[in-house]
Amino acid sequence: MNLILLGPPGAGKGTQAKMLIRKFGLPQISTGDILRAAVKEGTPMGIKAREFMDAGSLVPDSVVVGIVEERLAFSDCHRGYILDGFPRTVAQAESLSATLLSKGSDIDHVLALTVDKEELLLRITGRRTCKVCGVGYHTLYDPPTESGTCRACGGELYQRDDDREETMRRRLEVYDLQTSPLVNYYAERNLLRTVDGMGDMSEIQQKLVTIIESKQG
Ligand code: AMP
Repeated sequence: MNLILLGPPGAGKGTQAKMLIRKFGLPQISTGDILRAAVKEGTPMGIKAREFMDAGSLVPDSVVVGIVEERLAFSDCHRGYILDGFPRTVAQAESLSATLLSKGSDIDHVLALTVDKEELLLRITGRRTCKVCGVGYHTLYDPPTESGTCRACGGELYQRDDDREETMRRRLEVYDLQTSPLVNYYAERNLLRTVDGMGDMSEIQQKLVTIIESKQG
């Protein structure tokens, strides 16, 4: 089963993907996570990607498409996968469908999460991650300890550079311009299911699971 999670930054794609991998035993493929790992390691691809990421822009299609093609060839993808943050342009979607077609495979569901813009800003600017163990927090919704450290390991927390308000606003603009056309793109192909991404994360997950299971059954 091949799933795409679609939605603006802060819609909850990563959180929902993590819940869905547990439920369905599929790997999560997050292009954002792969790119951040490359930036951290200082690989040539990471060095190139960093300037786009820091500016809140999209990394060029050719780079991202290459990353995904490589990742889809791993053996853990043979039963399917959850794409989180890819595709983000129509060109990426076209290239993905050509790759899948050549393997006799296809996308089963595109699950689009919708969230109000004000809520997106609140969610993203409050996001923090532990430097040591990588656990995620939110200053309002899931606060760390009173002294601002990780509840799990006591580690120091950091804010992603591209989660700061100015870059965040740019990322939302980029979403509207370059990524939101994918909503129509997948609707025209009868693959799109839209889910209200406001409110309780486990209720949202239940709605996603119901959609996925209704097609499986
Ligand atoms: P994310 O963690 O998904 O919000 O991605 C963080 C940043 O990585 C984005 O703002 C882009 O700069 C870059 N990125 C992630 N996925 C893609 C993609 N599919 N196409 C282009 N750039 C991407």
